[in-house]
Amino acid sequence: MKTILVTGGAGYIGSHVCVQLLEAGYSVVIADNLCNAQRDVVDRIARITGTQPVFYQTDLLDLDGLRAIFRAHAIDGVLHFAGLKAVGESTEQPLRYYSNNLTGTLHLLTAMQEAGCTTLVFSSSATVYGADNPVPFDERMPTSATNPYGYTKVVQERILTDIAAAQPDMSVLLLRYFNPVGAHPSGWIGEDPNGIPNNLMPYVAKVATGELPCINVFGNDYDTVDGTGVRDYIHVCDLARGHMLALEYAFGRTGTDIINLGTGRGSSVLELIYAFSKACGHPLPYVIAPRRPGDIASCWADTTKAKEVLGFTAQLTLADMCRDSWHFICRQRERE
Ligand code: NAD
Ligand code: UDP
Repeated sequence: MKTILVTGGAGYIGSHVCVQLLEAGYSVVIADNLCNAQRDVVDRIARITGTQPVFYQTDLLDLDGLRAIFRAHAIDGVLHFAGLKAVGESTEQPLRYYSNNLTGTLHLLTAMQEAGCTTLVFSSSATVYGADNPVPFDERMPTSATNPYGYTKVVQERILTDIAAAQPDMSVLLLRYFNPVGAHPSGWIGEDPNGIPNNLMPYVAKVATGELPCINVFGNDYDTVDGTGVRDYIHVCDLARGHMLALEYAFGRTGTDIINLGTGRGSSVLELIYAFSKACGHPLPYVIAPRRPGDIASCWADTTKAKEVLGFTAQLTLADMCRDSWHFICRQRERE
């Protein structure tokens, strides 16, 4: 069975993908510097799957550390999740974001090239569709960005495309995620950011637990179903399943391809709050606040290509996402 290097594998999405890789019989090697993850996530992955992944606390900025991993393991392919992802923080610390995300990716590509590893699946984002494309977003649309985080994704897509073009045996798959939410149904892994969350679902979850008093709904005057922002929320376990299909697809081809991973369906902020209040069993207080600068009204995926190329269709609903997020948060609080 193939050995997969998962950069950022202790993080939110990477950990769910590691679970599915191990369950499918892949050997998994995780490289994560733990700048946004806990070490015990690796043990939780083992608890769910019954298999301990190999773990290196390695920074992608440390090229020799990466080289050592490729020397120690015959890596067949790489799933590249490692990166900094907070939009607001990227505006305050652009140098850190460009340095971490771009240099990290360049080092990874260097180590892969030296080791003769030619298959890479990259975590891109719907953010590369920028502010000017009409929904639904399809993979042929021009890319742009509205903040440094988004530009790191646009530039990484460019770097990977250029390198694959110059190296004919290389296979690169750029996966553009929409809004991953939810958690593993076991309640062992999920998303529980420290402090005040930036994203809607973890914020709502903290209001549901009483850690935060009230949800701020950023604008109710958008041209959407109820005036609040619309996003394509996808369950992280569906997203992980998409990666399993994507990896097999990447192994069977060369060149670069781009595929959206979303549900193709948008939900408004108020719809999400309502779905979460049903999941947690009590109403959630919210107030209408000003629009958040840089937000677009609506964002959802054209999923035609994922269906045609990967045979992927998301199966889990917004209710499933809220139920599993709530279950994870409750289990976390019990463990604390
Ligand atoms: P996350 O922060 O939970 O996981 C990223 C992991 O990478 C963390 O465990 C962190 O410790 C690690 N990391 C960061 N920089 C590193 C470095 N230099 N060396 C080694 N490890 C490093 O984030 P996530 O939500 O799991 O996102 C994974 C990927 O998917 C990211 O590239 C992100 O930009 C992308 N993405 C996420 C979303 C989302 O909403 N969560 C949406 C679109 C794209
Ligand atoms: N949002 C909100 N209150 C919050 C966080 C987010 O109303 O505390 C809105 C935001 O304006 C957007 C939607 O929820 O319309 C999803 O925001 P998130 O940050 O989760 O994802 P992104 O905007 O990056 O797609």
